[in-house]
Amino acid sequence: MAALLSRFFSRAADILWPRTCAIEGCPRVSDRPGRHVCSTCFASLPFHEAGGACSVCGALVMAEARHSFVCEACRLDPPAFEFARSAVFYREPVDRLIQDFKYRKASWLCDDLVDLLEGAVRAKLSFHDIDVVMPVPLHPRRLQERGYNQSALLARALARRINRRADEKSLVRTRDTEHQARLSGEERRKNLKDAFEVSSPGLVRGRIVLLVDDIMTSGTTLSECARPLLAAGATSVWCATVARAVLTGAAG
Ligand SMILES: [Zn+2]
Ligand SMILES: [Zn+2]
Repeated sequence: MAALLSRFFSRAADILWPRTCAIEGCPRVSDRPGRHVCSTCFASLPFHEAGGACSVCGALVMAEARHSFVCEACRLDPPAFEFARSAVFYREPVDRLIQDFKYRKASWLCDDLVDLLEGAVRAKLSFHDIDVVMPVPLHPRRLQERGYNQSALLARALARRINRRADEKSLVRTRDTEHQARLSGEERRKNLKDAFEVSSPGLVRGRIVLLVDDIMTSGTTLSECARPLLAAGATSVWCATVARAVLTGAAG
C-alpha cells in the first residue's frame, strides 16, 4: 500500500512539477517516472561494459577476455573482496551527478544513481546469493560535517529494490583518514590500514556481504573494508559501485 501511494504521489508530482533533465544542456523534461535523468540521456551514459573484464575486480581489458580472466593487478596483489563491479565510467556527465549527490546534498538524484547500481548488480552478480547490503562507512566526524553518507543512501535504496537487508551499523570506520585522491597506491593502503572494524560480528558471520560505494578507483577502500568483514566470518564480500574511475581520479 505504501509503495502504491508513493508511486501515485510521484506520478502526480511529475504532472504538477515536470522536471527538466538533470544532465547539463539537455532541454527535455524527464520522461522516467520519479527520475531526474531523461531516458535519452540515461541510455547514453558511459556504461562500464563491452569487451572483456577481470573476473575479480571487473576492470576492463583491451582484448576479449576469457570468463576466468584475472588482471595483472589482481594476480600480483589479490584484493580481499571476491568481486567488484560498476555500472558506468566516472566521467562526463556522471561525475557531476555523483559530485552533486555526494557534496551538494542532491539526494533527489538517489533513484537515478540506484537505477545504475541495481542494473549492474542484477546483470553482473548472482544477486540472489547476497544476504546483506552494507555501505562503505564514513568516519563519524566526516558524517557530522557532511550530514549524510552518500553510500548509505545508495545501499539502503538498493537493498530495498533487491529485497535484502541493509546493514549500516556493523561495519564502522574507526580512523579518520586523509583523502585518498592525493595518495599513491602504496600510500592509499597504508592510509587505510586498520581504518575499518566490525562492531557486531554476529550479523556478519556466514553471510555474503555486498559492499556499496559511489566510486571505485583502485579498489583499496573496498578491499580494506572487506578484510575485517572476512575476519569476522563473512563467507564472501562482493562490491558494487555506481561508477569506476580510471586511476588518478577521485577517492579510492
Ligand atoms: Zn536528458
Ligand atoms: Zn582485476
